[in-house]
Amino acid sequence: MIQGRGASGGIAIGKAFVLPDWEWELPEHRVRVEDLAREFERLSEGIRRSKHEIAQLKNELDEVVGRQEASIFDAHLAILDDPVFMSEIQGIIRRQYKAAEVAVKEAIDHFVAMFDLLDDEYMKERAADIKDVGNRLLKHLLGVPEIDLPSDSRPFILVARELSPSQLVHLKPDLVLGIATMAGSPTSHAAIMAKAFGIPLVTGLEGKFPRPIITGDLLILDGDTGIVHLNPDEATVTEYAERQKRQQAHRRQLRRLADVPAITPDGVKIHLASNISSIPELEAALANGAESVGLFRTEFLYMNSPRFPTEEEQYRVYRRAAEMLKGQPLVIRTLDIGADKHLDYFDLPEEENPSLGYRAIRFSLDRKDLFKVQLRAVLRAAAHGNVQLMYPLIASVEEIRAANDVLREAARELTAEGVPHRADIPVGIMIEVPAAVAIADLLAEEVSFFSIGTNDLIQFALAVDRMNDRVGWMCDPYQPSVLRMLKAVVDAAERRRVPVTVCGELAGDVKALPMLLGLGIRGLSMAGQSILPVKEVLLRTPVEACRALVGELLGFRTAEEIRTRLERFCQETKLAAGRSL
Ligand code: PEP
Ligand code: MG
Repeated sequence: MIQGRGASGGIAIGKAFVLPDWEWELPEHRVRVEDLAREFERLSEGIRRSKHEIAQLKNELDEVVGRQEASIFDAHLAILDDPVFMSEIQGIIRRQYKAAEVAVKEAIDHFVAMFDLLDDEYMKERAADIKDVGNRLLKHLLGVPEIDLPSDSRPFILVARELSPSQLVHLKPDLVLGIATMAGSPTSHAAIMAKAFGIPLVTGLEGKFPRPIITGDLLILDGDTGIVHLNPDEATVTEYAERQKRQQAHRRQLRRLADVPAITPDGVKIHLASNISSIPELEAALANGAESVGLFRTEFLYMNSPRFPTEEEQYRVYRRAAEMLKGQPLVIRTLDIGADKHLDYFDLPEEENPSLGYRAIRFSLDRKDLFKVQLRAVLRAAAHGNVQLMYPLIASVEEIRAANDVLREAARELTAEGVPHRADIPVGIMIEVPAAVAIADLLAEEVSFFSIGTNDLIQFALAVDRMNDRVGWMCDPYQPSVLRMLKAVVDAAERRRVPVTVCGELAGDVKALPMLLGLGIRGLSMAGQSILPVKEVLLRTPVEACRALVGELLGFRTAEEIRTRLERFCQETKLAAGRSL
């Protein structure tokens, strides 16, 4: 038995598929004359696979954003048939005896540099297309794993050193029974996505196995306890298979709560919203009883696209989400790129401390051209539903004002162009930086609502990188420092009558629920999968008792004391509810 960190709940039993630890290394050797034909074959095979993949992506995008936008892939397919591009690659192989991947890389660099020199938007876009297609081809030639996942095999447990959100974006959830990663953390975006898909995930397994896992090993993962079994005996498999069945039965039972109003036994209504990153996730969240969307992580729209999504593409997705919510709020968070979220088609600078670097609202305020495209799409979608806007990673009043300036400019433009939109939408901010906690009273005067992003807030409060597996375990939401910060935000918001919700992973943690309710939080936004388990506990948890509990918690000095008291409180309310049935 191996103990890792549970990052997405549930049990998975199945054969491992191990992603090799790839290095992005180009071969340096010269190809022998007799091997040249083989390089041409490899090139053709790479092209064939890239075309197949682009056709698939086109179909997928077609469903999300529509045919016209998906037609960008036609341009990509055309590049793979372009005689000039191809003869450049072939010429490098033939004349310079270079391997296919080296030739592709040199051809991309050549054309991109050439097009970039021209002061012509159209040609610059072509350069971006060539880079994108060329990189896809390179990935195939080098056998980079995110594209080589078995797509026609039986479902498997994916084992990787680390998974990036963009690798997960390409996964077919039906094929993945569970995920085990050596590095990573429960609040990484890969973990958040696994939760949204309902895929069990255990992380923090580095150096814990007696030997490296190989493809075909039998694994059991328990995403709740973080326990992993490697090639377990039959009795263990039977035991976990039964637990898995019980869990599935419980999940089916919970479904009955989907339409039950989220009201505590002492009559306090709690608003349960969902965090989403796509339309399919919204569908799943609504089926799980989500009342609204408290956080639309729009960066996944950007990550799923071969280039920055256009205003029209974004507008269609936001509008669709707004309409699906039938008047309930859709809180759209502006692009939160950077840290662990990257775009294949945009080179963010290498940084020593990416979490503290060029990301989120800082990126948007630096690239107002891209920011305005998103804001225009949001304002247009707002004409079709209850759309609200939220800025991420706000650390100062200036940032809100600068972002609002761009928002007003976007609205002015739409008015001048006669494009239907709604300008007076509620604008809120994420509270996820300690600076924002310290000036919550000042920020409250600038905005319509707060949403506490505990994932980032905890990492910044404790100065612990949430992605670093050496110290990630120290990102402890039950530290007294975190509790005091949460209280400071709620108090400042209450004084200025600004509604405050929580949208970090803590919102979906049933153990934290009494603490959040006791602090005065009345709105929670979480992974769709967490809504029903949270509602089940909420229905038996009186707010009055939670208030008294928080009084007690504020007197504790260690996370251990807070955690133990919360566990006891949860057991007591469960027992009390059982007795009153
Ligand atoms: C957070 O930081 O808590 C949050 C919700 O934002 P993200 O996890 O996307 O950084
Ligand atoms: Mg955040």
